[in-house]
Amino acid sequence: MRKNAGSGVEAPTDESVEDLTIDGMVKSQYMAGDARDVFAKTEAFTLTDLARAAKLYPFFQPLDCNEGPEARIYGRRVLMLGSNNYLGLTRHPRVMEAARQAVADHGTSMTGSRFLNGTNLMHERLEERLAEFFGKEGALVFTTGYQTNLGVISALIDRHSVAIVDKADHASIYDGCQLAEGEMIRFRHNDPDHLESVLSELDDERGRLVIVDGVFSMEGDIINLPKVAEVCQRYQARLMVDDAHAIGVLGHGGRGTASHFGLTEEVDLIVGTFSKSLASIGGFLAGKAKVLEWVKHFGRSMMFSASLPPASTAAALAALDVLIEEPEWVDRLNVNADLLREGLKSEGFDVGDSQTPIIPVSTGTEMTTVLFWKDLLEAGIYTNPVIFPVVPKGSGILRTSCMATQTREQIERAVQQFRLVGRKRKVIS
Ligand code: PMP
Repeated sequence: MRKNAGSGVEAPTDESVEDLTIDGMVKSQYMAGDARDVFAKTEAFTLTDLARAAKLYPFFQPLDCNEGPEARIYGRRVLMLGSNNYLGLTRHPRVMEAARQAVADHGTSMTGSRFLNGTNLMHERLEERLAEFFGKEGALVFTTGYQTNLGVISALIDRHSVAIVDKADHASIYDGCQLAEGEMIRFRHNDPDHLESVLSELDDERGRLVIVDGVFSMEGDIINLPKVAEVCQRYQARLMVDDAHAIGVLGHGGRGTASHFGLTEEVDLIVGTFSKSLASIGGFLAGKAKVLEWVKHFGRSMMFSASLPPASTAAALAALDVLIEEPEWVDRLNVNADLLREGLKSEGFDVGDSQTPIIPVSTGTEMTTVLFWKDLLEAGIYTNPVIFPVVPKGSGILRTSCMATQTREQIERAVQQFRLVGRKRKVIS
């Protein structure tokens, strides 16, 4: 190993680069010296420094500028195949103007929780618009999608209740279950038969809430909602769908998974985020008024955290208006998604069960994944490398996602670069 100038860290040579395993990182935490010192593991945690020294650290990379379909990073223009800005609305003139105007009218922050001084009229208008859009009695606006799941699940799953979650559900659903007093049980990914066997073993007197992602954030597949809803009805389980990646993507005018399957009535609760198609930040719950009233008064993530700021609220409202008035963006997105998915498949890449603009490309080991990511970035294509703990140890994917505002030529260029790097890294032949 050679020493990396100035960093005090041994930079790995090409041969030793394979030593950079996540396994090593995890083990180092336990090998750390003094068991009484909570900082000991941080001293022993050197994997990320090694990766940086080898110029192979892929996370927290700052963008110089993000224009939507393209971005700039380290002075280089790249095609953005790694955002959740599915409809490209972060740069829509109406959305940007609404955010600017909200700052002029209301300032930069409400400086308090929704519960006390933090609610404004825009929150309430957004709630009315969301309820109407999703065909539910009402809606509640939270500060992030993450906090929405924390607040809703912990408020509903008391010690007499069980949350039954798809194994591939988002981390915020798992974290919501950890915060809740009741039990959590997982069922196999997108497997309604396994869900049924879990439900059939529950005691009759236990409350049950089945929680699924509508579109799975890493896999890009769609929940088998008709079967899941039918099983829920048979076992009197309430059903909650996290539609973070389905809004603006699936269903009538982008109304999400329940609309896609014509099952709006059967889905009790829809949660979602404004941080993807709706070009802002924030989250919401849509459902029955009585449930909202409960969550408002027992959802700790809403009560004990400051509310969504005016600019973000106005941006989400404007983006929702654009989605309603210009639903053609949803069609354009899905045309691009088909082009990218079919292009990658025809080159021989494994894209799993993706049916949406989220297209995960299997890239082999963790190291091949990082090298693939780096080659693509140098070729002008921005993607997200995903390794353990999101995928099993020893494997990796590049999570790609396209946008409605990208051109056919841009998508074809991305497929071509994937082909060149895929052959170089021996992921395809
Ligand atoms: N649910 C799902 C399925 C998600 O993918 C995400 C974010 N990636 C969230 C919830 C959390 O949303 P937010 O980023 O608004 O906190």
